[in-house]
Amino acid sequence: MDFQFNDEQRMWHDVTHNFMEKEVGREYTREHDANREFPNEVYKKMADMGWLGLLTPEEYGGMRCDPIMFAIFCEAIGKFSLDTAACIMTSMFTANNIVNHGTAKMKESLLPAFLNGDQKFAISISEPQSGSDAAAVRTKAVQDGDDWVLNGNKVWCSGAHLPNTAIVLLARTSEDRYNGLSLFLIPNDTPGLIIKKMDTIVRRSLGTTEFFLDNLRIPKENLIGEIGKGWKYIAEHLDMERLSITASQVGNARTALDDTIKYTKEREAFGKKLSQFQVLKHRMAENEIEITAARLMVYSAASKMAQGENASKEVSMAKVFAADVAFKVAFNGMQALGGYAQLPEYDMERYFREAKHGMVGGGTREIQCSIIAKHMGL
Ligand SMILES: Cc1cc2nc3c(=O)[nH]c(=O)nc-3n(C[C@H](O)[C@H](O)[C@H](O)COP(=O)(O)OP(=O)(O)OC[C@H]3O[C@@H](n4cnc5c(N)ncnc54)[C@H](O)[C@@H]3O)c2cc1C
Repeated sequence: MDFQFNDEQRMWHDVTHNFMEKEVGREYTREHDANREFPNEVYKKMADMGWLGLLTPEEYGGMRCDPIMFAIFCEAIGKFSLDTAACIMTSMFTANNIVNHGTAKMKESLLPAFLNGDQKFAISISEPQSGSDAAAVRTKAVQDGDDWVLNGNKVWCSGAHLPNTAIVLLARTSEDRYNGLSLFLIPNDTPGLIIKKMDTIVRRSLGTTEFFLDNLRIPKENLIGEIGKGWKYIAEHLDMERLSITASQVGNARTALDDTIKYTKEREAFGKKLSQFQVLKHRMAENEIEITAARLMVYSAASKMAQGENASKEVSMAKVFAADVAFKVAFNGMQALGGYAQLPEYDMERYFREAKHGMVGGGTREIQCSIIAKHMGL
């Protein structure tokens, strides 16, 4: 058992962290959060590095890496903001539905453009009445001649409004709870589709949206894979998605703690540096322990996945733990920075907002506990 990165992993860690420091940086991230702007320049640079293809097989022009290398990447891209990580990762996961189940025409027209940064993807599962209970989707797709006609209401579809984005959408094609769900490809410029941004306190750069499907017509070849297999296709990439979100939370918690340490070493009260007060020192020490533990859980789950084993329980455990840790670290950071924590230029309020969403996005804390309990035979 080896708890250290090998040379290749260490080098990848350094390359990705250097990229985030030099090519992204906290000021750029802060500005894009404040202006609710997608980080186009960073996305394009990542495409130029070939990194958008980290989950795409080589036969389609990607450079698919193992889950450990991907976790290292996600830890780095979450460094300044979980939103930045979501901006990069959302298309990467969603593209895999096309890679694994898309038609030859979809692959040919979408994958090269995705890899060079010109084509994005958004995933639309959630509906007003179906969040955690994701299979309760009500949006209906009915075949009519050479078209599918869709009716329903989707919410929380992150990035669906961005230029050149194709939405991979889960809709009901029969009444069977799981086998009655199918996946469809809906370009966001499809006539009749009106996408509205939601005014969230997180994911301000990626943006999240809602839309109504009112007799929306798409050609029949926009079905992804087979009718009734949508649930199965979505479930295929859930562990990888959760692992990646979790890795990025560890990366962000690290920065939040480092910022807290730096601030408390500089700021004085009662003639002492804040870092000299034992209560603050101990909180930071506890956070150090927790981040280390969360990180080990991420790489332990990643290493199980890299060996081709099912790591669903380990991924969910890591997700619950890391989300709690990220929130606790940001919460303590908010307290340690006093009033200054309220100012965007100190970044802590962003870490705090985003860490809270970490307990919900990608499957809530409670749903992860249900998965873990199931693995425990409960
Ligand atoms: C910013 C943002 C971006 C998002 N992006 C996307 C996206 O791109 N695509 C997409 O499809 N969705 C997206 N979502 C939706 C997200 O996946 C859901 O919000 C999430 O799954 C929870 O669903 P819900 O909000 O309807 O909460 P609910 O399901 O209503 O849950 C409310 C509370 O009840 C708890 N609960 C529910 N069921 C159980 C149970 N069985 N046992 C115990 N507790 C339970 C939950 O854990 C939670 O605490 C996004 C959401 C947000 C806020």
